Amino acid sequence: MRASDLLHPRPEGLYCPPGDFFIDPVRPVDRALITHGHSDHARSGHRSVLATQQTLDIMGLRYGEDFAGTTQAARLGETIALNGVCVSFHPAGHVLGSAQISVEHQGTRIVASGDYKRQRDATCAPFEPIRCDVFITEATFGLPVFRHPPDTQEIARLLKSAAQFPERSHLVGAYALGKAQRVMRLLRDSGYDKPLYIHGALAKLSEYYQSQGIDLGALQPATVEGGKEDFAGAIVVGPPSAFADRWARRFPDPISCFASGWMRIRQRAKQGGVELPLIISDHADWDELTATIKETGAEEIWVTHGREEALVRWCELEGIAARPLHLVGYEDEGD
Ligand SMILES: [Zn+2]
Repeated sequence: MRASDLLHPRPEGLYCPPGDFFIDPVRPVDRALITHGHSDHARSGHRSVLATQQTLDIMGLRYGEDFAGTTQAARLGETIALNGVCVSFHPAGHVLGSAQISVEHQGTRIVASGDYKRQRDATCAPFEPIRCDVFITEATFGLPVFRHPPDTQEIARLLKSAAQFPERSHLVGAYALGKAQRVMRLLRDSGYDKPLYIHGALAKLSEYYQSQGIDLGALQPATVEGGKEDFAGAIVVGPPSAFADRWARRFPDPISCFASGWMRIRQRAKQGGVELPLIISDHADWDELTATIKETGAEEIWVTHGREEALVRWCELEGIAARPLHLVGYEDEGD
């Protein structure tokens, strides 16, 4: 069977005609398979959703329990037949619950990896390379300029600054699902054992991570009502959007930090008023993308959401067939 007959883009998202399902559809559909809980991939309103239990839990927390008509949990590595098409979920190393989805039919296997990274992350299961005929890769950071430093090195810079300016607070902007919890866990693994103060938007998801056995240590609400009057010396974590509003003004002489792969671009940090950019990304950098493509052994690569052209060109130079998928509607909230 031709790969493009097994999966191809439609306005709703990536569609499998023989299986009659979509992967990460951006509009409501009958049957959706969902790679992870970021809002551009996991939307509410589908008639049925198949995803890992953690992704289903996260969707329930974000949208309410009635986010879909019916749900089914996919166990990692387990094969599920959908109209004769074999699908299975495998860890993607992106955020808690994130999975690649393998779709196999009549001897052709395509792996849709969703978003992924290869750097170690104590808050989710590590990416597993899956041998396949066609590998669908993201390309958020698909340019050779993007090389993420070790995350421990970035956290060490944050702790050094906190030690240097004990009278100031450090406000760390980090996306609510995945990045925030990863930053907190990295701080704990670096020996930081004081309470961390969090914006209300992070509370439910952080509590869920803790319930799944990911120890984030003592978390306290970053509110004056929470009992703390003086945030001098505190590390406060909140979603990037909160830092522009009144919420941020309660902290004494704050140092603005932002944990994102985009912080590799100095100009971007400067424009955003970020004093301490932390290059911590939940997406693969250039080296991870190219190494992963080789590891899958795929003869053909389909590239989506991001810098598609450079990665397609790299594949061609390596003698691997490649093309951009031109899926629309993905603007990842968790970069
Ligand atoms: Zn994502």
